Amino acid sequence: MTSVLSLRNTTVNLIRPSRDERYMKYARAAAESSTCSRLHVGAAVVSQDIVVGTGYNGAPRGIEHCVHLDDSPCRLAVHAEVNALLVAQVTIGADLYVTHAPCYDCSKLIINARISRVVYEQDYRSRSGIELLTRGNVTVERLRS
Ligand SMILES: [Zn+2]
Ligand SMILES: [Zn+2]
Repeated sequence: MTSVLSLRNTTVNLIRPSRDERYMKYARAAAESSTCSRLHVGAAVVSQDIVVGTGYNGAPRGIEHCVHLDDSPCRLAVHAEVNALLVAQVTIGADLYVTHAPCYDCSKLIINARISRVVYEQDYRSRSGIELLTRGNVTVERLRS
């Protein structure tokens, strides 16, 4: 969507970012707060064009941050999607924006939270989460930037 703003004799074209791009920025911003040394993931729940919850991956509240010396999966961090769902006032019918494709376990919770659409940016090591979401009738889309 393009809108044109005229300032005296100057015309400035404002390119409005797409809705998906706009809300993915909230997920990316949340990822910056991640306290897991292995991967920084952020998520945002959007209901009726309102951001109702955000989250990032990290150790449970009050537990020291996790530090990983190899690339094996993190078992301590609560995933960004779960943290966003836990604080969101509304999840039924909402969209979930997440910087990385949800894992299998998060996908089970996303389905039961009745999220209707997941938009992600980066692929994760496994596609089993995406496949489960699809089987659970959640629309899954990848945002290519
Ligand atoms: Zn970790
Ligand atoms: Zn997960």
